[in-house]
Order: sequence, then structure tokens, then C-alpha cells
Amino acid sequence: MAEKILIVEDNARNMRLFSMILKAAGYIPLEATDGTEALVKAVQEHPDLILMDVQLPGLSGLEVTARLRQMPGFERVPIIAISAYAMKGDQERIIEAGCDTYLSKPINTRELSAVVATVMSEKRQKYPENLSV
Ligand code: MN
Repeated sequence: MAEKILIVEDNARNMRLFSMILKAAGYIPLEATDGTEALVKAVQEHPDLILMDVQLPGLSGLEVTARLRQMPGFERVPIIAISAYAMKGDQERIIEAGCDTYLSKPINTRELSAVVATVMSEKRQKYPENLSV
């Protein structure tokens, strides 16, 4: 079964782009446009990976990540942060919040597919029998 990726992004143009890239790469994209919707969809859909925009209206992507990490079943779900600016301090905050890695905007199509594929294969190696936890 194709793996599900929850895209959390408030910019409609970016959302369309990320969704299209991931669909073309064979994943099932799910969409959330703010933190609250992200938490609800994460619980409903149990995505295999989450792409998390850092700057969101309301709860920030990092607050959403920190909340997810405290929820049962979400300790291991890979989260890739997408940040408009990834200066040194920001990178540390992103990792501290519980994200596995991050990409800086503007997002390069090939880079996005490559990072998602890498993180997915790391997850399969770490938890071979328990893919969708
Ligand atoms: Mn944003």
C-alpha cells in the first residue's frame, strides 16, 4: 500500500506543489492548512511521514511537532520541517522541537523527493515490522 504523507502548509501554492511532487513520487498526499487541522488529520490518518511548515497561522509548526511527539503513536513518525529561513539558531530549534530534519524554502523539487525517500528508507530500516507506527 502506498505510504501517506501529511503536508502541513498554509500557502496554497506551496501546498499544490508539494502535493503534486509527492503524488508523482507514488505517495498519498494528505493536506492540512494549520496546526489544529494537522493534529486532527494526524490522529485520523496516521501518516507515514509529515512535512511540516514552520510558519503557520495560530500554532507554529514547531509547536505542532512538540505536541505530536508527546502523543502515543507519534514518537517515531518522521517529521521534515520546512522553514523559510534556516539560520543556525533556527536549525537547533527545529531539531529540538522533535523534527528529524528540515528543508529551506524555496523548495527544490528534486531535493524534496530525495529527502522524503531518504527519511522513508531510514524509517523502514529502523522499524521494519512496524511501518505505520
Ligand atoms: Mn507558512
